[in-house]
Amino acid sequence: MNISDVIVIGAGIAGLAAARRLAEAGCSVTVLEARERVGGRILTVRAPQEDLPIELGAEFVHGRHPQLLALIEEAGLTLFEREGRPFCYENGKVGDCSFGDFFGVLDDLPAEPDLSFTEFLAQAKLPPRVAERTKNYVEGFNAADANRIGTAALRKQQEAEEAIEGDRLFRVLEGYDRLPEHVLQRFLAAGGELHRNTPVTSIDWKPDQVRVQTANAELPELSARRVVITLPLGVLQAGSVAIRPQADAMTAAGKLAMGAATRITLLFREHFWECVTPELSFLLTQERPLPTWWSSFPNNASALTGWAGGPRAAAAPAGLPLQQATLAMLSRIFERDDLRSLLISGHTHDWQTDPFSLGAYSYAPKGALHASEEMTRHAENTLFFAGEHTDTTGHWGTVHAALGAGLRAADQVLDSLR
Ligand SMILES: Cc1cc2nc3c(=O)[nH]c(=O)nc-3n(C[C@H](O)[C@H](O)[C@H](O)COP(=O)(O)OP(=O)(O)OC[C@H]3O[C@@H](n4cnc5c(N)ncnc54)[C@H](O)[C@@H]3O)c2cc1C
Repeated sequence: MNISDVIVIGAGIAGLAAARRLAEAGCSVTVLEARERVGGRILTVRAPQEDLPIELGAEFVHGRHPQLLALIEEAGLTLFEREGRPFCYENGKVGDCSFGDFFGVLDDLPAEPDLSFTEFLAQAKLPPRVAERTKNYVEGFNAADANRIGTAALRKQQEAEEAIEGDRLFRVLEGYDRLPEHVLQRFLAAGGELHRNTPVTSIDWKPDQVRVQTANAELPELSARRVVITLPLGVLQAGSVAIRPQADAMTAAGKLAMGAATRITLLFREHFWECVTPELSFLLTQERPLPTWWSSFPNNASALTGWAGGPRAAAAPAGLPLQQATLAMLSRIFERDDLRSLLISGHTHDWQTDPFSLGAYSYAPKGALHASEEMTRHAENTLFFAGEHTDTTGHWGTVHAALGAGLRAADQVLDSLR
């Protein structure tokens, strides 16, 4: 039987960051990844007709998070900042957004009592258009249900974002997947071992001893002294990996929520939108299936990306029906009947039904502000949890949350081994 110091479950950015730090500290580390690729919810594809890679998972580097920026620099990757003008589609017309600054509403969220965002809106007595826009923004950005997401968590998130200039958005020119690939190379160079196509099915543990079973017939069982579990929240909540005996962190996992997000990138032969929406940053609509759209401006890519988060995402179709519905929607908005002939390709991934994510990213419902902190408590110095949902800094649901959580878990493991 293969015995290492530490098994890390999941080769997303959290798992890879943890594994690398542990391997570089001299531990023998084995990473088990269910998919044939690393990166998890960072998923980049490349189209022959377009230089800028297409992101199907994480796309934006939100603000200037020091840990993430340092890693991007170390990997030799290039960031470009998103710029441009926002437009709105209302009452059948595209124009400037005239509903005022709804972001101001989020700056004044009360710390207490912790309300659902819907409860907060009911109390705030905002003009209906502002309330509707704010709700759409909160659901879209957080992949959350406004009836569930808590104002205490939203307030913490606002403060965390302000500290890193979170309103600035950047993209990785070479594709976001180059980042996990870089961390993987460093991990392997430090003597680490990665097994792809190895879904973990169960974790049996007692202090200082873990036995992990997998669905990979060539590697059915492994043992270690420690395990770092970076399974996405959706996978933890589904119980598809048995943890015996149960760890307290699993109770905390039950308090958090896994959000839904649907996105599609449509690649066109020309920038047909430019005469109506020059220098387009975001196009905000109330349309179905995907209300929010963006371009890559100032990059010249001929791509538009549509997005829905929360209940709208859960209700959106997937695959080809999504492509057809979004093309019809754009034809209506831009009053063009030739978009089908201008389309080169559509790119999407269904994160909700993907068995290795079962959702997009996490959020903290009303009353669950401290659940992610509870998830960072180890079980008998043997089981450790990481992943974006275990972030304690207010950045839930981001790449930098996952990165920070992975490094935190690695430090906990190292402390436990000293
Ligand atoms: C559509 C979408 C858009 C996003 N946009 C952004 C964005 O613009 N900016 C941003 O910062 N963040 C964004 N995010 C969030 C970001 O992608 C995640 O927060 C981050 O990548 C999560 O990293 P992680 O390591 O915690 O989890 P993951 O990347 O999910 O890694 C977990 C790994 O565990 C593996 N796994 C699952 N089950 C098993 C099993 N049984 N056995 C072994 N391995 C298993 C998975 O395959 C995966 O590789 C987006 C996410 C989505 C889905």
